[in-house]
Amino acid sequence: MYQHLALYINGQFLDGQGRQTQAVINPADGSTLGQLPLASQADLDAALHAAQAAFQSWRHSSPMDRSAILRKVAELSRERAQEIGRNLTLDQGKPLAEAVGEIMSCADHADWHAEECRRIYGRVIPARNPKVQQLVLREPIGVCAAFTPWNFPYNQAIRKICAAIGAGCTIILKGPEDSPSAVMAIAQAFHDAGLPPGVLNIVWGVPHEVSDYLIRSPIVRKVSFTGSVPVGKQLAALAGAHMKRITMELGGHSPVLVLPDADVARAARQLARFKIRNAGQVCISPTRFYIHDDIYTAFVDRFTQELANVKVGDGLDPDTQMGPLAHERRIPMMQKFVDNARSLGGKVLLGGEQIKRDGFFFSPTVLTDLPDDALVMTEEPFGPIAPLTRYSDLDDAIARANSLPFGLSAYAFTQSLQDAHRLGTELESGMVNINHFGSSLPETPFGGVKDSGIGSEGGAETFDGYLVTKFVTQI
Ligand code: NAD
Repeated sequence: MYQHLALYINGQFLDGQGRQTQAVINPADGSTLGQLPLASQADLDAALHAAQAAFQSWRHSSPMDRSAILRKVAELSRERAQEIGRNLTLDQGKPLAEAVGEIMSCADHADWHAEECRRIYGRVIPARNPKVQQLVLREPIGVCAAFTPWNFPYNQAIRKICAAIGAGCTIILKGPEDSPSAVMAIAQAFHDAGLPPGVLNIVWGVPHEVSDYLIRSPIVRKVSFTGSVPVGKQLAALAGAHMKRITMELGGHSPVLVLPDADVARAARQLARFKIRNAGQVCISPTRFYIHDDIYTAFVDRFTQELANVKVGDGLDPDTQMGPLAHERRIPMMQKFVDNARSLGGKVLLGGEQIKRDGFFFSPTVLTDLPDDALVMTEEPFGPIAPLTRYSDLDDAIARANSLPFGLSAYAFTQSLQDAHRLGTELESGMVNINHFGSSLPETPFGGVKDSGIGSEGGAETFDGYLVTKFVTQI
């Protein structure tokens, strides 16, 4: 049994009923799991009007009531994690343990928002005239339109939904048509938690048609998107033309610096494990490796060995460590990166090709001896490919790490406190992880600089994008 697929508008789950549908494919074997109903223009209008009507009361709801609903969603997420995780593995491909882990971590995100939404404070500004009272209020911005991708379907949707709903906004979310089950499960959890109709609405459709329609609508006041840089720029431009607030969580191309004093075995093991997570389809995946000359050979050997031992297979197989790519169109992209590297003199130490079996599998791949202008060094690979390069001078390595327009996450391994401090301040990145991987917790801000985005999700900043500041002065 796979997840029942529907639209969720004004508190109702709406099935096919004559709507166009899109097949949902299992990337582990290419089979069809179900048919996803796509929203008509009338459906989008219904979602807009439901969100607009619900905002009139939800904006005045007690933060304690909002908190209780978010807590209930956290509880239901934990209770249902196995079932939701199984469906997520079926339509997205990641190993079941990763899928269940995603749901469990999202329960923590919902709990965090439940806590923080009770602490959305304004302030009182001392007045020049003692008879005057000056208040700064933080009010929900209004109806939000959100667009989330397929790599962490539960995580990316729940972060946007919890931030919007916790702030007192209402939201229409278009989830990932390729991997829709997790977003359906979120809708079910909020429905069962007693969220009033219209506060959350879920739609599916042709992505650019839905985003274009919703962003242009005068009802929508805020746009939040997670996905690629080119699409993010298009949506941000459209939102700008209509003067709408944006949060953009876009792609990255995370540099990894391994310094000569690093614990090579530990760095190689941890980086290999993090690299294959979700088959490398992670916006903060380590994607450009700069290894110091002194340890280059030792690191390359250990890292390649670690990746060679990875068990690739169907995510439902308990032995699987890396599943398929989420959809077929990613395979030619991976091949393009490898072919381009080869054409520039790069060596393929491991993998470099599609695995010959049903489904959309690509081998863990290690590339060396390639120039900094190789495609895989300049464009986000978003797959299980690790290009390893060497450096001799830290200034130069930092300059190379900062040379791309991306700035989402960066990694470094060193035992030098001084170098760690320097890297923490000099790497142009929204998040810097030194000697471990610590991003994406509910209590810490997640977001990029440069082309990687605008705004943060999580942490104390999580509601900032969903609130407007109002000044009230009275005498
Ligand atoms: P894509 O750019 O077509 O789609 C990425 C996501 O954005 C999908 O979920 C898609 O439905 C959505 N999308 C695309 N156009 C849209 C539009 N006009 N309006 C609203 N949503 C839209 O590419 P893809 O083949 O699905 O993924 C490939 C690339 O996307 C990757 O290389 C990676 O850079 C990026 N990506 C980034 C993230 C992230 O977490 N930042 C997640 C998934 C994909």
